[in-house]
Amino acid sequence: MTHASALPAALRGPFFAERCAELALSADPERPVPGLSLEFFPPRTEALAEQFRAAVARLAPLAPRFVSVTYGAGGSTQARTHEAVARLAAEGRVVPAAHLTCVGATRDEVDAVARRYWEAGVRHVVALRGDMPGGGDYVAQPGGYPFAADLVAGLRRVAPFEISVAAYPETHPAAVSAAADLDNLKRKLDAGATRAITQYFFEADTYLRFLDRALAAGITAPIVPGIMPVTNLAQAQKFSAACGATVPDWLADLFSGLDAEAETRRLVGTVVAVEQVRRLQAAGVNAFHLYTLNRPDLIYGIAHILGVRPATA
Ligand SMILES: Cc1cc2nc3c(=O)[nH]c(=O)nc-3n(C[C@H](O)[C@H](O)[C@H](O)COP(=O)(O)OP(=O)(O)OC[C@H]3O[C@@H](n4cnc5c(N)ncnc54)[C@H](O)[C@@H]3O)c2cc1C
Repeated sequence: MTHASALPAALRGPFFAERCAELALSADPERPVPGLSLEFFPPRTEALAEQFRAAVARLAPLAPRFVSVTYGAGGSTQARTHEAVARLAAEGRVVPAAHLTCVGATRDEVDAVARRYWEAGVRHVVALRGDMPGGGDYVAQPGGYPFAADLVAGLRRVAPFEISVAAYPETHPAAVSAAADLDNLKRKLDAGATRAITQYFFEADTYLRFLDRALAAGITAPIVPGIMPVTNLAQAQKFSAACGATVPDWLADLFSGLDAEAETRRLVGTVVAVEQVRRLQAAGVNAFHLYTLNRPDLIYGIAHILGVRPATA
């Protein structure tokens, strides 16, 4: 193991100490345990529903701030999302949040879905515009909410929901400019959202620069970084091309030659996600939204290293 005193002078001193603190895996009493929220997608079949329930049961003891369930493109999972979220609310082990989009439904229909959530005891909605079911340019539904900011305002009229919205450190792919996209984020928060959750990104600086720009634009609501643990690079590259996230060369390099090594890819994905969180923690960020892809073991491992443990352990 390299000892600090064995290093050239330039690498010793405050900078080196800072880097060690930033990347250390050891417990540091100065470093608070991060708050985590977890995102799942709704199960497609009864067998997958069983897996979903097992995944939530495994992660519930980590006391996530909330557990959100996505809404399929074009509202295609409306019933499944509702069933999964309502069940979480009824079981009461975690605080559920329902993703809801503007696509493929009129305002009245969306409001009715929201009302049913409220009646089922769901108090948190992640309000999104959504994308067209088959891809392609977005066209607002006649009589529907055109954009997420309109949906936020509509939800406010339905019930006093806690509302989260999406933010894009690398700018939403359809935005006319980064500044216009930031204006849009501000509109969503001004309309009544209380928090933004970011699209995933892999460079801490990308998020931190975005945070600076948001602060300069007068945004003070929390902007929680979305962390996507990667175990399948090809899949991550495909998603990223669609959502405008950059996959850095160093990430591709880490997965190079591991196509047939699923277990090693999981280890690499864990290390990358933990390091990303640690870098952000070093900059003072302490709430994180983990895209679980319904994979509890990977998330449990990441949370464990970060010091997030079951309350009884
Ligand atoms: C945390 C998170 C969770 C997500 N969950 C889901 C999910 O469950 N289901 C799903 O289908 N998708 C989901 N998405 C993806 C999301 O639906 C897409 O990224 C979608 O393309 C944009 O949604 P939005 O809510 O950011 O839209 P908006 O905030 O409405 O913005 C969409 C685009 O329109 C522009 N815009 C906004 N208002 C106007 C205006 N008045 N005039 C002109 N341009 C405007 C914006 O700058 C942006 O380019 C999620 C994304 C994130 C980051």
